[in-house]
Amino acid sequence: MNAQAPKGTADMLPAVARAWEHMQRVAQELFARYGYEPVYTPLFEHTDVFTRGIGEATDIVSKEMYTFEDKAGRSITLRPEGTASVVRSALEHNLTANGAQAKLYYAGPMFRYERPQKGRMRQFWQIGIECLGSDGATADAEVITVLWRYFETLGIPAGSMRLLLNSMGDEQCRPAYRDSVAAFIRARSAELCDECVRRAESNPLRAFDCKKDGCRTVMADAPLLRDALCDACAAHYAEVKTHLNGLGIPYVEDSTLVRGLDYYTRTVFEIQVDAGLGSQNAIGGGGRYDRLMQEYGGPPTPGLGFALGFERTLLALEAAGVDIPAPPRADVFVARVDDSVLAEVFALAQRLRDAGIATELDHQGRSLKSQFKQADRLGARRVAVVGPDEIASGEFTLRDMESKQERRVALSEAVAAVTASLV
Ligand code: AMP
Repeated sequence: MNAQAPKGTADMLPAVARAWEHMQRVAQELFARYGYEPVYTPLFEHTDVFTRGIGEATDIVSKEMYTFEDKAGRSITLRPEGTASVVRSALEHNLTANGAQAKLYYAGPMFRYERPQKGRMRQFWQIGIECLGSDGATADAEVITVLWRYFETLGIPAGSMRLLLNSMGDEQCRPAYRDSVAAFIRARSAELCDECVRRAESNPLRAFDCKKDGCRTVMADAPLLRDALCDACAAHYAEVKTHLNGLGIPYVEDSTLVRGLDYYTRTVFEIQVDAGLGSQNAIGGGGRYDRLMQEYGGPPTPGLGFALGFERTLLALEAAGVDIPAPPRADVFVARVDDSVLAEVFALAQRLRDAGIATELDHQGRSLKSQFKQADRLGARRVAVVGPDEIASGEFTLRDMESKQERRVALSEAVAAVTASLV
């Protein structure tokens, strides 16, 4: 058997798992303030949820999906992102029927068959929100603000984040713009990489994402969507910016920001950080997808959302020197002089635990000395020492691990005395 986790995956050991839980708690509190409710969708979907929604020509669908046939011959795909599933679920359960608004958030693993590198995994963890049913620009500004405030609340300094903003237009203005970018790529094909030239035919806007220096230089001369937006999209974009300005959320307009999925319309955004991440410096991003529900056969239903990546956010937090709070694993350690009092020790630990006190004891028959060492390792502030003499007199010894002071406490008073000593 191969005892290593598959390439591109990682075990979340306790320190990292604690960080993930901390990030989820911060998300739950913050998102609730903006009216978002939790949703859990399956980790796999019928493949066409992603091919229809994200788009056949995108990197995700064309190269990165974990797709397989189940035993009944259905094509199933492990979800590569959250939005498509949430919109599919909102349609299935009529969450936006009769113009209702649905504000949902999710957290969980996503799967993409990518080339692993720092901050790029095959199984990675995302937290995201989706605001369905609203086309107003305040919804855009709200979603962007939630993402910004989330990173700030975690402790990433505002000065080290860059919020990129763009509008991708809609079905009125984007097709002509796509054609003009495709024509530009064909005209300059000698200077571009093979993949960008191929993109002219399938997904020309993705050429803006090419990391090769030569392609970046050429694409800097390409026509900009900013100049091609129809009046309605231009007005919507201007309004989003007005609301962001009003809230003091700093953004940088980047008309080459196109993001990799077909479903985006109008507002798109991304937050990048400078330190700790190298080329995978986008910690979160999202946009508007006003046509996605229609793609699935539902009624026209505007929506937008964001997703942020756990692994990259954790790297950004480390780079910013942020410590994730780690509670001590035990407040009290109940130590025994010898095994003759094991049953009493076990019962005392349970009484303390039932009273809400984090309590540990030794299960391995260690000496008193090593029990004290273990108590230290766990960060216990008090050690209750129990021996045959103590039991005979109905007492135990309570040691304060900081001041090293000890006193005798009646066993019957254990919970009250330990609780009082910990305040
Ligand atoms: P996307 O769904 O591609 O817009 O990505 C949203 C966020 O998810 C990114 O900003 C990253 O933080 C994270 N992310 C995307 N792909 C990966 C990956 N392969 N490995 C780790 N994090 C990722």
